[in-house]
Amino acid sequence: MITGACHCGAIRYALSAPPRQSMICHCRTCRRVSGAPVVAWLTVDPHAFTITNGKPAHYASSANVARQFCNQCGTQLTYARTDDDSYIDVATATLDNPDAFPPSHHSWLSHDIAWIKFADGLPMFQKSRGDG
Ligand SMILES: [Zn+2]
Ligand SMILES: [Zn+2]
Repeated sequence: MITGACHCGAIRYALSAPPRQSMICHCRTCRRVSGAPVVAWLTVDPHAFTITNGKPAHYASSANVARQFCNQCGTQLTYARTDDDSYIDVATATLDNPDAFPPSHHSWLSHDIAWIKFADGLPMFQKSRGDG
């Protein structure tokens, strides 16, 4: 079982299957809601994701988007579309072992902060992978 938590531990979750995808998002929405220059995400089958402790709060950062976060410590945990239940994104850095699923690419470089430089050699996309 793959497990993770918010910073204070009030919210814990488990994944019963490995993620489908692992990426780093440079979009301005992820940046502002997290207060961090980029956010790493795992794309997971929603049926494989379970909150095992606590009750996260929700925030609609855009139309048709629900982000879950801990209302005690503020850790951002998930991103989901309310009009697409085929996946949920889980913040990679909230895993108990974030080294387990390294990213394969970067997305939304069109929103990037100019001083962010990665030397990991991974593919970079101006929008989502697939959007070009
Ligand atoms: Zn917390
Ligand atoms: Zn983003």
